[in-house]
Amino acid sequence: MVIYHLLDTWQKNLNRINMGVMSCYRPKCENIMCDVYVDDVGYICYECEKEFKIYLEKHGLNPRTEGEIKGALMVFMESDKDEHMTGNEVDLNGFFNQYRRDY
Ligand SMILES: [Zn+2]
Repeated sequence: MVIYHLLDTWQKNLNRINMGVMSCYRPKCENIMCDVYVDDVGYICYECEKEFKIYLEKHGLNPRTEGEIKGALMVFMESDKDEHMTGNEVDLNGFFNQYRRDY
């Protein structure tokens, strides 16, 4: 896992240097063109930013300083992306409506 992550990070660094795609540093996250770059952490995409906020709530974390947020973000960025969190934002009605069938 650690080796995988190192390779992944290395690959992403290469990508960044070669193509400037600004890919998200989170393992298994394929998003590119991130517009947030945090020192010591790296690029973070919109999806992971959103997931991080939910992650904090879920774990009852309430970081209040720059350092605390960064610390929590570093731990979070080591975690694999939650596949359940991906996709477009949708409310419950919208979710069921898109699967509703016309007979
Ligand atoms: Zn991401």
